[in-house]
Amino acid sequence: MRTLITYDIETDVIVIGSGFAGLSAAIEAKNAGADVLVFEKMKAVGGNSIISDGGIAAPETNMQKARFITDSKELMYKDIMASGLDMNDKDLVRILVDQSKEAFDWSINYLEVPYLDRVDQFGGHSVARCYTAFNTTGASIIKKQVEKVTELGIPIKKQTYFKTFILDAAGKVIGGIFREGYDYKDAQKGKDIYVKSNKAIILATGGFSSDVAFRIKYDSRLTKQMETTNKPFATAEGMIESMRIGADTVDMNAIQLGPWACPDEKGYGIGPMFSEYIVFQYGMIIDPEIGERFVNELADRKVLSDELLSIGHPCIGIADAGAVEYSGWDIGKALKRGIVLPFDSIEKLAEHYNMPEEALHKTIKTYNEGVTQGTDQAYSKPIIEGAGVFAKPPFYAMRLWPKVHHTMGGLKITSDCEVLDTTGKVIEGLYAAGEVTGGVHGASRLGSLAISECLVFGRIAGRHAATKADGSNT
Ligand SMILES: Cc1cc2nc3c(=O)[nH]c(=O)nc-3n(C[C@H](O)[C@H](O)[C@H](O)COP(=O)(O)OP(=O)(O)OC[C@H]3O[C@@H](n4cnc5c(N)ncnc54)[C@H](O)[C@@H]3O)c2cc1C
Repeated sequence: MRTLITYDIETDVIVIGSGFAGLSAAIEAKNAGADVLVFEKMKAVGGNSIISDGGIAAPETNMQKARFITDSKELMYKDIMASGLDMNDKDLVRILVDQSKEAFDWSINYLEVPYLDRVDQFGGHSVARCYTAFNTTGASIIKKQVEKVTELGIPIKKQTYFKTFILDAAGKVIGGIFREGYDYKDAQKGKDIYVKSNKAIILATGGFSSDVAFRIKYDSRLTKQMETTNKPFATAEGMIESMRIGADTVDMNAIQLGPWACPDEKGYGIGPMFSEYIVFQYGMIIDPEIGERFVNELADRKVLSDELLSIGHPCIGIADAGAVEYSGWDIGKALKRGIVLPFDSIEKLAEHYNMPEEALHKTIKTYNEGVTQGTDQAYSKPIIEGAGVFAKPPFYAMRLWPKVHHTMGGLKITSDCEVLDTTGKVIEGLYAAGEVTGGVHGASRLGSLAISECLVFGRIAGRHAATKADGSNT
C-alpha cells in the first residue's frame, strides 16, 4: 500500500544547485512561465562556478571579428572532438558549438555580465576564442545571474540539501526530500521537508572532484593525496541518487587534472593565472632534472597532465618579462605570495631549481630559434601572435603539478537535457545540466568550455522542463 505524502512545498520546477547551470536553468524556466524554486545545500550560492576564472568560449563572436580572428563552429567542433578523443556525444557537441555564441551574447545583453576587453587562446583551441569575465572570476557572472533571479522573483532556498527523489507509480520524478537547515559541518542538523515538482526537477549539482571515495572508483590514481582545485562540497550525492533510480552515466573515468596547478599553494590558488594565461601561451615548461622541454605547452589539458605525471615530479613553467608585459596580466599577487618567483638571470633560475644550466641555455636557444622562424620544430607548439623570444629579464618561474579539476563524466542526457536510464529511456520529470552531466567533453574538456556548457545546457533544461507538456503530473 502506498502512503500518501503531505508536501511542505509545491512548485512547477525544482532546480537543485545554484552554479552557472542551475541559475541559467532557473531563469529560463521562469521566463517560460513556470514557478521555480532553487535549492542549494551551502550557506552561499554559486558552487564551484563562483570561484572559477570566468573564462567562456564561443566561435564567430563580435569580439573575435573586431580583432580579425577567423573562427567557425566547425573548427570549434573539431577542436572539442580532438581533445575529447572522439568519445564525445556528437549531438551534444553540435548543440554546444551552435549555441555558445548565443549564450555568450545572452550573458552580455540579458544578464549584463561585464567581460575584459581581450580574447585568449588556451590549449587545444585552434584560435583565440576565450573571453574572461571582469576581475577574472566567475563571481562576475554569478552576481549578475543572482540579480536576474531576484528580479524575476525566484526564491533560492539555501542550506537545503537534496536527499532523494520521490517517484510516482510509473517511475516519474514528482518531487524530492530535502534537508532544510542543513549544515555542511553537521549533516544531522535541520529537518526533512517534502517538495512537489509539478513539472520537473533539474539537477545541476556540479561535479565530484572533491568526492575522494566516489572518484577513486573510476580512477584509482586519484586518492586523497591528489589535491583538487574544487571546493570541498563538490560531491556526488545528486548523481548517486539519480543512479539509484536507474539513471545511466557516461565517461565516468574521464576525470580532468589541471596541468597549470602549483603544488606550493592549496586549491586552485593564483598560480594558474601565470601558467595558463602566460607560460603556456608565450613561455616554456621545463623538466628540471634535464633542463629541457618535453611537450607542446599549448596542448590540451589531458596531454599536459599525462606528460607531467609520467615525468613523475613537478616541472617548471617559465616566461620572460616580455611575455608577462605582452599578456597584460598582473602577476603581482603571485609574486607577493612567492608562488611565482622572479630571477634576474637564467643562471640564477637554473641554480634555484637545481637544473643543468648548460642544458637550459640550449633549450632556450632552440626555442628562440623556433619563435623567430615561426615554427617549433621540437614539439609543434603553435607560435601565436605576441609570442616573443625568451630573452628579457626578469625571468619568472613557477612549479607545476596537476590537481583534480573537472569531472567530464556524468549523467547521460538527451539533447533536451532529459536524463536517460540504463535502457535508453527518458526518466520522466528529471533533467540535468552542467558538470553533473557527461558526454559533451568526452575524454578531456577544453579550457573555458565548462561555462559555455553550463549556460547553453542550463538554458535548454530550463526551457524544456517548463514547457514539456505530457500532462501526467498536473
Ligand atoms: C577553480 C576553478 C576554476 C575554473 N575556471 C573555469 C573557467 O574559467 N572556465 C570554465 O569554463 N570552467 C572553469 N572551471 C570549471 C567550471 O567552473 C565548472 O565546471 C562549472 O562552474 C560547474 O558549474 P555547475 O553549475 O555545473 O556546478 P557548480 O557551480 O559546482 O554548482 C553546483 C551547486 O550544487 C550544489 N549542490 C550539490 N549537491 C547538492 C545537494 N545534494 N543539495 C543541494 N545543493 C547541492 C553545490 O553546493 C553547488 O553550489 C573552473 C573550476 C574550478 C574549480
